[in-house]
Amino acid sequence: MTARQYSIYDCGFNYIIFRLTDCQPFEKEAEIDISTLEFLLVNCSGKSVERKKAERSSPYEFHYNLPMSHEPLQEKLKFWNQRPTDSARPISIKFLLLDSISRPHGLRSLPKTVSYLKDKLGFIEFKGYHALGEPTIHNYVPMMMGIATDHVGWEKKPPHYEGKWDSEPFIWHNFSQLNYVTMDAEDMAYWHTFHFNGRKGFTKRQMDFNTRPYFLIQEEIAKMTQFTIKYSDKLIKYNALNCVDRKNVWDFLLDYTYEFLEKFQNVPTFSITWWGWPNHDFLPATQVFDEPFVNFFQKLESSTSVLDNTIVILMGDHGFRWSNYSETKEGLLERNLPFFMIRLPPKFKEAYPEMAANLAQNSQRLTTHVDLFQTLAHLHRLMTPVVFEKEVHPNPSYGYNAKYGTSLFTNIPPERTCEDARIPQRFCSCNYPLWDEDFKYANYKKAMVVEGLSSLAESQKNAKNAPKNK
Ligand SMILES: [Zn+2]
Repeated sequence: MTARQYSIYDCGFNYIIFRLTDCQPFEKEAEIDISTLEFLLVNCSGKSVERKKAERSSPYEFHYNLPMSHEPLQEKLKFWNQRPTDSARPISIKFLLLDSISRPHGLRSLPKTVSYLKDKLGFIEFKGYHALGEPTIHNYVPMMMGIATDHVGWEKKPPHYEGKWDSEPFIWHNFSQLNYVTMDAEDMAYWHTFHFNGRKGFTKRQMDFNTRPYFLIQEEIAKMTQFTIKYSDKLIKYNALNCVDRKNVWDFLLDYTYEFLEKFQNVPTFSITWWGWPNHDFLPATQVFDEPFVNFFQKLESSTSVLDNTIVILMGDHGFRWSNYSETKEGLLERNLPFFMIRLPPKFKEAYPEMAANLAQNSQRLTTHVDLFQTLAHLHRLMTPVVFEKEVHPNPSYGYNAKYGTSLFTNIPPERTCEDARIPQRFCSCNYPLWDEDFKYANYKKAMVVEGLSSLAESQKNAKNAPKNK
């Protein structure tokens, strides 16, 4: 049992379960059982506020835990506990996703990380990995649901999709059905990918672990969305918290990720860690990740078996979009070319040498997020008989069952074009110049900032009139 003791007067605590529960006051001290709960807020007022102010500390304390008590999770763990100890081990998947990081931006900002990952851990850097659209949602949805932005019916869905996302066919559900333990850690609640700009998010738990309730309460307490900051001659809303749990938010998320991977290192996992702050808004700020990433991987390597059993992907969703640099020719090019590095565990390479060779070769090919989706589907098909320890011939449905994309484990031809890869022509980096003056790019960007993503449809309409294949 995990317990915490407090010796602060006039305090109370709330459990955070999607929202705050009622405050349960206590005096002098309390022993709080958080063994079954993920997040806890301790709030001290009255005398303690004065004392806390004197100490220049917050009256709030946040705590988190990775409990095993959630029923669907218990079912998964029971499944793995009942397997013979000599059973083959399915491969886990770990996404480390930095919003708005292009390949050149990643190479500039993360030199120690890139060097360590390539030279020490054998990561492969993809040189032709291409975005499918401008904002996050136009890239993340293809990655997780296999539809491109020109998919029939897309216009009724994101980014103007106002319904809940619960029933969407994200591929993490496929892995969850294989009893993979799942985790989604994103450092923004108000600006969360599926809540930003009026999107309705989810009503049901999507993953076994999810940090959004934790960030939501902290952001509400900080009232962060009321603040604006001046950047590049513009006032913009403050996007996210700088600090949580007395740490930089990027360190917090990395620690949370490490604890998750360490705790569940003996069972298969599918997990996504997504950083938006400060990298999404400040071009030079991505360098804050460099040393922490190296330390994270060193610790994973020396203290856990995670890297023996996990495919790790470090990537961006698209390039940086919020600075004057992003409007230069180089900046425009970068916006289309996300950072993408991937590592296969040695035993996977031994078991599937042809797939590993194809993956290495495809690092020199034109590839996209829907290829990554097909790679995940490929992996799911491969792991299904491993999980159930017998040949099974399911007919699983992956995402929208669109045939876009090609698994990175298969041969992708060098002559592949943007059209072949379903990359919209106006984003195609093979076209140069990338944007015609008629497209009025600057106006488009201004509309994006001022009016939000709802302007995108209009911009796409304009784009249809832009000359193609220049
Ligand atoms: Zn993004």
